[in-house]
Amino acid sequence: MTRIRLALILSGIAISALVFHAQAPAPQAAYKFTEIVPGVYSAIGAGSMNVGSNSAVIVNKDDVMIVDSHISPESGRAMLQELKAITDKPVRFLINTHFHYDHTSGNQAFPPGVDIIGHEFTRRKLTGDILEKGMFADLLKGLPAQLDGMKARAAAEPDATAKARLDQQMRVQTAFASSLKDLTVTPPTVTLVDHMTLFRGDREIRLLYLGRGHTGGDVVVYLPKEKVLCSGDLLVHDVANLIDGYVNEWPDTLEKLKPIDFVDVIPGHGDPFKGKERVEWFQAYLRDLWKQGSALHEQKVSAADAAKRIDMTAHKAHYPAITARGVNLAWVSRMFEVMEGRAD
Ligand SMILES: [Zn+2]
Repeated sequence: MTRIRLALILSGIAISALVFHAQAPAPQAAYKFTEIVPGVYSAIGAGSMNVGSNSAVIVNKDDVMIVDSHISPESGRAMLQELKAITDKPVRFLINTHFHYDHTSGNQAFPPGVDIIGHEFTRRKLTGDILEKGMFADLLKGLPAQLDGMKARAAAEPDATAKARLDQQMRVQTAFASSLKDLTVTPPTVTLVDHMTLFRGDREIRLLYLGRGHTGGDVVVYLPKEKVLCSGDLLVHDVANLIDGYVNEWPDTLEKLKPIDFVDVIPGHGDPFKGKERVEWFQAYLRDLWKQGSALHEQKVSAADAAKRIDMTAHKAHYPAITARGVNLAWVSRMFEVMEGRAD
C-alpha cells in the first residue's frame, strides 16, 4: 500500500531520473568522514547525493554503531558501502535519534541482525501515519513541483556556471525522489523510554532521553570516556527545525545536557563543534521565541501574522542566518498547537 502510494506520487520522476543518470559523471562519494576522536567519526554529506542529515559512526572492538540512517534508502545503502573505507567490522547497531525522515529513511538498507534502536515515541511515529500527514507527507506531495521549478530555473539561467550548479542540484534531488519510491518505512526494533547503556569492548555507549524537545522522543548518544555527544537535532550547529518541537519544554531538556561531561558534539545537522556555549545560545533563542509567540497568541493574533511580527534578530550574532524580522510560519503554527494542547 505504502509503496503503491509513493510510486503514484513520484511516478512522473522515474523517466527524468533515468535521463539524468545517463548523463551523470562518475559517482562521487556521498559522505565525508571526519574522525572526531579515535574510532568515532562524523559523516556529513559531500554534495553528490542528498543525504539529509549527518550521522555518526562509532567503531567498537568487534562491531560498528551508526547514529541515524539519513534521508532515503539510497543514502542508507551509500553509508554501508562507503563505511568500508574506514572499517571492515560489521554494523551491529543503528540508532534513530528521532523519527524524522531525514534521519530514518535509510533504515531499511541495514541488514537483518542490525538492531535499530530508538525511543518508544519514534517507533510509534514510524508505525503511524507519517506518509499521510506531517512534514514527510508534505515533502512527498511537494517534490514533483519542486523538481519542475528547479528544471525551469536551470533552463532559464543564462550563466553557464550557475546553470551547471542548478543542473547538479536537480540531478541530486531527482535521484533522491527516485530513491523514495523504494521506501518502506522501517521503525526501530528495540525501544527505550529513558536510557540504555551498551558495552562494546572497552567502549561504553549511553543512549539518553532527556525530555521533549525537537520531537516527543529525542535520544542523544553519549560516550563518557571519549567525551563525545551525538546530539541528533536536539542541539544542532544552527537553529534546529521546530516543526514538531516543544519550544516551551526544550530549554529545560537542554539544561540536562549541562552536567554531562562532553567536549565534542556531532550534531544532526551542520559541522561538529566543541563545548556547551551552543546550549545556552539555543535555550535563549527558544525562550525568546516562546515568549513572543505566547504574547501574540494571547492577543489572538493569527499564526500567519505572528510569523511576520516575531523578531529574533537579537540572536543573529549566534545565528547569522537571521537577517530580518519574521520566522517560519510552520514553526509558529506548531507553537500555537502546543499552546492549545493539540500537539503530538
Ligand atoms: Zn534532521
